[in-house]
Amino acid sequence: MTVKTTRMSGAMKSGAITLARAKSLRWILLACMLIWLACDRDKDAAQETSQTPTVTAPAATTAPILNFPPNSGPPPAIDADRAMRYVKEIVNFGPRPVGSANHKKVEDYIDSRLKGDEVEDDIFTADTPEGKFPVHNIISKYPGTKDGIIVIASHYDTNYPLRHTSYVGANDGASSSALLLEFANQLRGKPRDGYSVWLVWDDAEEAIKPDGSGGLAEEMPFNDDSLYGIDHVAQKWQADGTLKKIKAFLLADMIGDADLDIDRDLNSTPWLEDVVGEAAKRLGYQSHFFVRNNQVSDDHLPFMKRGVPCADLIDFTYGYNNVFWHTPQDTVDKLSPQSLQIVGSVMLETMRILDKINPLPPK
Ligand SMILES: [Zn+2]
Repeated sequence: MTVKTTRMSGAMKSGAITLARAKSLRWILLACMLIWLACDRDKDAAQETSQTPTVTAPAATTAPILNFPPNSGPPPAIDADRAMRYVKEIVNFGPRPVGSANHKKVEDYIDSRLKGDEVEDDIFTADTPEGKFPVHNIISKYPGTKDGIIVIASHYDTNYPLRHTSYVGANDGASSSALLLEFANQLRGKPRDGYSVWLVWDDAEEAIKPDGSGGLAEEMPFNDDSLYGIDHVAQKWQADGTLKKIKAFLLADMIGDADLDIDRDLNSTPWLEDVVGEAAKRLGYQSHFFVRNNQVSDDHLPFMKRGVPCADLIDFTYGYNNVFWHTPQDTVDKLSPQSLQIVGSVMLETMRILDKINPLPPK
């Protein structure tokens, strides 16, 4: 993943909860004022007392109160052992930065797992600070009975600046890409009584230059040098009208960590995050969700800025202080099938709830 985050502390958390109750424009404005005050207080407290990062106000403001449909039917599940096998198979190709032979092998591997499915290949050339690279987004489509689409995305490339190391991105890229392959197994041949689901394995997500967090002279701001693939998908779907049909965009990133704590992302759509939280609660997995708030720049941003409701499911504490992220230590031994099961079933339950909320909140 390519990301900048700001950890949120207690004052911001209570501000976010307050916002979740706001119902009208007047209340939204009031809540905005309150959250700014909370931020200022929080910032002052952080400066006075500790090394706690300062915070900025989230772009999104509020969530409407949702009437969740009653719980019905057996809880969804995936074959987590099979998903973990996919993680290992992807990792076994070795580092898979854009433009590499390993990358092509992983493209072929994903395609081979989608045989017989409706697959759209979005292929183009990205112009990057390191030159031109072929980019290949892979999209598989599973029809539903309702008019509208739920998109689920994961990037599958590995970090380019680490291409000469043993870095294989077991958690960062492989875990979520494997989960999407397992979703394809669950969706295949079973027409949904709900929205259509499109799975997107997006490419060239990682920054080509170092991402600006290390203070090196050759670094670039990550916003100018990342998300090449998913940005192309968003532009294309805006141009051809597909974007209007997308009811929700769910992103999975770094979801295989055995010590699983999915952050509540303040760059995501509050009401959709609430649906994810409700799904986790229904399945008894709420202790793995939303203990922390975070503000994550990730593959969902091109869709967020085009008004599509988005939720980024990401665990950005991968090892103490996130020490395994973007290092050769991002290996399969840090992951667990149980984490894939938790995130996988929560995403399926989220889709099931979305199918039954009528109407879904406006974008
Ligand atoms: Zn990454």
